[in-house]
Amino acid sequence: MHWSFELAQEILKKYPDRKEYVVASGISPSGSVHIGNYREFVTQYYVAKALKSMGKKVREIFSWDEFDRFRKVPKNFPADYAQYIGKPYVEIPSPYSQGESSAKYFEREFESALQKLGMNEIPVQMIYQADEYRSGRYGKAIAEAIKKRKQIYDIIMSFKTQDGDEGERENYYPVNVYCPDCGKDETTILGFDEKTDVLTYKCRCGHEHSTDVKTANNIKLVWKVDWPMRWREENICFEAAGIDHHSEGGSYDVSSRIAREIFGIEPPVSTCYAWVGIRGVGNMHSSTGINITPNQLMQVYEPEILRYLYAKYPVGDAFDFGYDDTIIRHYMEFDRNLEKYLAHDESLPEYDRTVYDLCLMPKSQGSRVNFSTLATVAPLTGFNQALTLKMLKQAGVTALGNFEERFAKVKFWLENYQPERIYKLLPEFNRAYYATLTDEQKGVLKQLAEFLKTNHTENEIQTFLYQIINDQNLTKKENQQRQQTYFKIFYNMLFGRDAGPRLYLYLAVANRADYLKLLQEI
Ligand SMILES: [Zn+2]
Repeated sequence: MHWSFELAQEILKKYPDRKEYVVASGISPSGSVHIGNYREFVTQYYVAKALKSMGKKVREIFSWDEFDRFRKVPKNFPADYAQYIGKPYVEIPSPYSQGESSAKYFEREFESALQKLGMNEIPVQMIYQADEYRSGRYGKAIAEAIKKRKQIYDIIMSFKTQDGDEGERENYYPVNVYCPDCGKDETTILGFDEKTDVLTYKCRCGHEHSTDVKTANNIKLVWKVDWPMRWREENICFEAAGIDHHSEGGSYDVSSRIAREIFGIEPPVSTCYAWVGIRGVGNMHSSTGINITPNQLMQVYEPEILRYLYAKYPVGDAFDFGYDDTIIRHYMEFDRNLEKYLAHDESLPEYDRTVYDLCLMPKSQGSRVNFSTLATVAPLTGFNQALTLKMLKQAGVTALGNFEERFAKVKFWLENYQPERIYKLLPEFNRAYYATLTDEQKGVLKQLAEFLKTNHTENEIQTFLYQIINDQNLTKKENQQRQQTYFKIFYNMLFGRDAGPRLYLYLAVANRADYLKLLQEI
């Protein structure tokens, strides 16, 4: 069974008769939402799809935790942003755009990626937590938490190795209070009136204020109390979280106890999603500035393939995207199984069928031309789309659906990440290299040049190449070595390098006059 259905079943077991199933995710807009954070969104999204296909009514919510405090200046921010530490994200000007907060900038960026990814088949309600907190919606819950602050303190301390301190316990308040004068949370609470719910505090800037917490617009619960409060407020059944929250004694454990003992609810079903990496770059952590976003990834990955990989890997397994050969493997695998899926091929396991149910977009264009073939042919034309199509046709390759999109991805990938794969023919005969070859090797080159004087398909060229390279008196292994040697010779004669594009395809589609003059001594 697919992981999304396993989670859906777990949810139905815990909440058998809810009229509506609320699944949630949330991200703090402290920087660009990267492909590791995106897993949080996509996990709940696929679980929601699974619940829906089981006939359940589902409501999906996504929280922007933009009322959290700005704790430290990220690496790619201007250094003078240290002046904003202590303010909520929603009050910090965007370093990258005019007239909006840094929170809004990152929110818009991610929301645009969700549009491109087609993550709107099930409507997702975006909740902007600064608006919610400022509206007073959580006022009663804040008062409730402040009244039970000593119990909360004891729960939090029970997960720590050091002992609590009576003085600290007396002065503990589970809130961040943003000063109305300077906007920062550098406030000290002086007292709380249990009867009137009025909180008195003073700020480092010198001002002192009193406010009714039920109607205040500047108070936020600390994360481990905020989280379970919102589980109750939204009636949440499911919310995934990363390992930072799911470690032993981490915020999911603490918040679960607060949910039960302070707010009187059971915590929702949750699961820990694993990190997503990029080959050669390492794990994604927004704080280190390694920030590959879904938008960046979609410069080289088609949206459906991005969706495919998140659907394919069990949510607890880490996986990597790749700007190296990994990407070719991802495209090949997606295409191969897509053919089977579309043909209702029974050899495709149920798990994989579900993966395609989840990842294909409503306007999916179905099968498409092979990524690696395009990566060989497109550079030969100087990335001319019409010419590429013509060459593919000559080589017997049909260009299927979404050709333009895949062409653009291949071009971006080669030009930006694999420029060394854009092979260029040598300007003239490689005399120096030719001189190092044996007579037998020169003979094979001559046979190939003769053969290529007339038109042949990719398959015919492949058959002929092995025919002239292989020696029937040798073992399979010895012949494989011969093949390696000869391919190296061909590549050196054509490109002056030990490696090159897929040779049969190249010889079938490239302009023959251009390469023939490089294959035999003139
Ligand atoms: Zn102040």
